[in-house]
Amino acid sequence: MTDKYGRIIDYMRVSIIDRCNLRCQYCMPTDIKWIPPQEILSLEEITEICRQASQIGIKKIKVTGGEPLIRKGCVDLIRMLKEIPGIEQVTLTTNGVLLAQYAEQLNNAGLDAINVSLDTLDPEKYLKITQSDALADVLDGISAIEKYDFPLKINSVLQRGVNDSDWQELIGLAKDRRIDVRFIEMMPIGHGKQFNPISNAEILQKLREHYGAVEEVEKVRGNGPATYCHIPAFTGNIGFISAIHGKFCSACNRIRLTSTGQIKPCLCYEDHISLKEAVRSGRTDEIQKLLLSAIDRKPDGHRFDESEMITEKHEMAQIGG
Ligand code: SAM
Ligand code: SF4
Repeated sequence: MTDKYGRIIDYMRVSIIDRCNLRCQYCMPTDIKWIPPQEILSLEEITEICRQASQIGIKKIKVTGGEPLIRKGCVDLIRMLKEIPGIEQVTLTTNGVLLAQYAEQLNNAGLDAINVSLDTLDPEKYLKITQSDALADVLDGISAIEKYDFPLKINSVLQRGVNDSDWQELIGLAKDRRIDVRFIEMMPIGHGKQFNPISNAEILQKLREHYGAVEEVEKVRGNGPATYCHIPAFTGNIGFISAIHGKFCSACNRIRLTSTGQIKPCLCYEDHISLKEAVRSGRTDEIQKLLLSAIDRKPDGHRFDESEMITEKHEMAQIGG
């Protein structure tokens, strides 16, 4: 499906839960008002929406949350999504805490790729950022998943004065391993508003100062907006998702489905269309129409640089990051 700005929309991020087993400072530092379970779509309802989405041109699905692996049946959902004709790729974003436990099942379910969010390799900083001492579990999870053939990416958000110096240790994961390490600029959504984003250009500059010339990687390596570079002698690549300082809205290819069945055309705005009633009452033909309306309502871009224009009030974990 092509939207009115000529962008091909073929990717849907699907949040399956608002809850999480971590409390990242910029995402969910304290308990939030949990969504009542009856408001959350069942796995079958999520699958039906994805089936309808595939009919209007969605080809790639990212399962996210909250923390998707704490939802019972997450692996079953991945298996069901993989069976939908037209869905070419099902991927997962996780904090990695439970990954060691699920790696084999995820592989058997046919998962196509995985992103693990990890902002530091320092146990003390990890505790400060996530309010959890689960770093060793995450590292075990990464090792467990490496045994399989998944493309594996580490996503890191840097905060000044907290982990901004950790970029070098983090990219070390890409040195001898088949892992891409990507830096995501902090976005002013939910608690993220309280942070001053570090520009990815700043990290790239440091990288160049340290490693000399780095090669730009032309090939698109994921579902979206990351740009990549390669450090000679490294196995993996280094990626940058620069939502703030390198606005990529003209190439936006996505819509988002929240755990309560709302389709969001853009992360910046509260605008949404609810599919819950249509899916719960079995009006499947209406789902496609609502999906098309949401795509039609996609704005030309975010206005993260004008705080009064950001109308989205929910936390990232509630929307599905
Ligand atoms: N719990 C899973 C995880 O951490 O990967 C999936 C959900 S989490 C919301 C998805 C991603 O959003 C994580 O990589 C996290 O670092 C990122 N994130 C959360 N809040 C953010 C913000 N305000 N700006 C940029 N990235 C953010
Ligand atoms: Fe949980 Fe992911 Fe948000 Fe951290 S970023 S609190 S792991 S949902």
